[in-house]
Formats: sequence, structure tokens, C-alpha cells
Amino acid sequence: MIYFDNAATTAPCAAAVKAAERMFENYGNPSSLHRLGLTASQAVSSARKIVARSIAADEGEIFFTSGATESNNTAIFGAAKSIGRHKKKVVVSAVEHPSAAKCCDLLADNGFEVLRIPPTEDMARQFISAVDNDTCLCVCMLCNNETGAFLPVSDIFRAVKKKYPRVHTHCDAVQAYLKIPLRADKLCADTIALSGHKVHALKGIGVLYAKKGVHIPPLLYGGGQEKGVRSGTESVPLIAAMGAAVEQLCTDIDDRFRRVGGLSEHLRSRCLAEGITLNSPDGASPYINSIALAGYRSEVLLHFLESRDIFVSSGSACSKGKKSGVLAQFSVPDTLADSTLRISFCADNTIAETDELIDALKAAKRELLAAN
Ligand code: PLP
Repeated sequence: MIYFDNAATTAPCAAAVKAAERMFENYGNPSSLHRLGLTASQAVSSARKIVARSIAADEGEIFFTSGATESNNTAIFGAAKSIGRHKKKVVVSAVEHPSAAKCCDLLADNGFEVLRIPPTEDMARQFISAVDNDTCLCVCMLCNNETGAFLPVSDIFRAVKKKYPRVHTHCDAVQAYLKIPLRADKLCADTIALSGHKVHALKGIGVLYAKKGVHIPPLLYGGGQEKGVRSGTESVPLIAAMGAAVEQLCTDIDDRFRRVGGLSEHLRSRCLAEGITLNSPDGASPYINSIALAGYRSEVLLHFLESRDIFVSSGSACSKGKKSGVLAQFSVPDTLADSTLRISFCADNTIAETDELIDALKAAKRELLAAN
């Protein structure tokens, strides 16, 4: 099997699985006062320290959630609730993941003015100049999940904070986390969303970083776990697994980036040689490669590759075949968007696998010709 759908989800690493299994056996509730509870609570606290270290944050700034979707919802609705009573403007990139974009849509339905800034060369300037005295919230992702494009988050947030320190800045860093070095302070974000299953941990676990002193009203009320930011009994096995995966990945980020960079360059040059279009802009993350075979439908290609045991995604996995509009924001014409595949790597992928993909795409061009 060749797995090139790592932006959708990654294979859990052995350390993550082992850490989860350990907490299946040690199943205490971290709130319980007895020994089993204490062991569980120590596992949560150890994972929190590891995640905090991985983004140069303080452990008090890390809150475990059920995933980046919840982290984005908590940050966006929380900021709108606490600051948005008097200030009604939200500035957001036009290419957010649905878990952030749809929160902004809902704010727009509820009387907020939502300005969406396209990912052009001029994006930082446009974004910064859209922010004014009436703005409560800025939302900008670090790495786009469909094209791999990096957005100039720290430039934008630094300038915004300088002029309007009370504006809440939120960054979805899911596709950049542990792919490039990330420091919470350098990003100038009040809140950051991270996801476990994109970094070889398990599904159903995420992180909300909230800068010290930033108050986030919760989405969920209850037992007051996670300092009241996220009530609900902590999923200790998932949290422990995330800690274990992050500990493994946080040491050689640059090495992996170089290795995956080589893969991506190889893929991109072979694509160009075969007349396959690259949608990903220059400078995009090598982990995410958006390509298009004009004249062939993404879904047909995807299943053709699947029949050869090669797994890729058509555009974004979360949109399940639905057009997201994000590719159009990156100036990909509609005809090519319908022919787009997302090839997303992890550090274990190889050049030989990439060559196999290209061979399969060449075969698709020959064999699927009649169907198109
Ligand atoms: N943000 C981005 C950029 C993503 O790619 C994803 C998942 O595809 C999410 C948020 C949602 O993450 P989760 O599956 O942890 O809710």
C-alpha cells in the first residue's frame, strides 16, 4: 500500500499506540483522588508539558480538546462572545478550513461583519488594512490544507497587535504543526488550534493553545476540567498518545522537512514532465502537493489509484467531494479544480513510491481516456 493522504490523517506511530494502551489498563479518571486517578492525572500533565514544549509555550497555556475542529470553534466563538459585544468586525483568510470558516459564516449570520481576505501576494497588507477599531477577531491559518500554501500569519498578527492590542488573533496551525518549527510567541496568536491525528497520534484529540491572560469562554460547561476551558472527563489514552507522538516528532523537524522537500521536488518535476498541472503555489509546504490532470475527474482518478493500492485525496478530505471554493481562491480554474488530487506526504514516504504514483497516473491517462 502507498499512503499519500497524510493531510487527511496519519498512521498512528507505535509510541502513540503504546501510550494509549497503557492508559487503557490504567483507566482511572484524572479527577479521582485515589492512586488510579493520580496516575491518569500525571499522564495528562506529562503530555501537556510535551505539547507545550513543542511550541515553546507554557504548560498552563495548553488545553486538550476533541480535535482542531473543537479548538477552532472554541477560539472563534469564545473571542466573539467576549470581545464581540461592542466590536462586530471579523477579518479572516478566505481559505480557512471549514471548522474555522463555518464559525465565521455563523458569526456573519448573527450580525458580525466578516471580511474574507484572499491568499494573494498582497495578502498581509490587505489583511492588516482591513482591521480597524471595530474589529474583535482576526483568523488566519498557517498552512492551507488543500494546497500547502503558507500564509503570512506572524507578519499579519504582529502588525495587528501593534496597532490594536485588544483584537483577538487566532491561528489554525494544524497542517504546519511539527512540519515547520513553531513558536507560539513568534506567531503573535492569542489562540492556536492543533490536531493529534495529523501528527501520528490518534483521532479525537486536539489542542487549544491560549496565551497566558487570554480569557476564552468555554463551548462546553460542566465539571470544569482543563481549567474550565473544556469541561468533560479528559480522554487520557488519547492525550497520552498525543504526548508520545509529539515527543517523537518534535526533535528533527528540519531534517524531515528537507527529506520531504526532496520528495516533493521529485514529484513536482515529474508532474511537469508528464503535463500534470501543479496547483500548489511556489514556496508551499512540501508535505501537501495539489496537482491536476486536466480532463480527468478527481474521483475517477482517486479510485483508479485506489485500485492500485495508492491512496490520495481529491482536494480536501473534509469536503468529501464537495467543492470547497478554496482552490478558486488560489486561482485554480473550476475545470482544473474538478481534476485535482492532493498528494500529501509523511516522512516515511519514498521516491520509489512517488515514481509508482506517476506511473499509475500515466496509466490512468491511457486507460481512462475513453471514459472522459
Ligand atoms: N484545520 C485544518 C487545517 C485541518 O486540515 C483539519 C483537518 O482536516 C482540521 C482543522 C480539523 O481537525 P480535526 O480533525 O482534529 O478536527
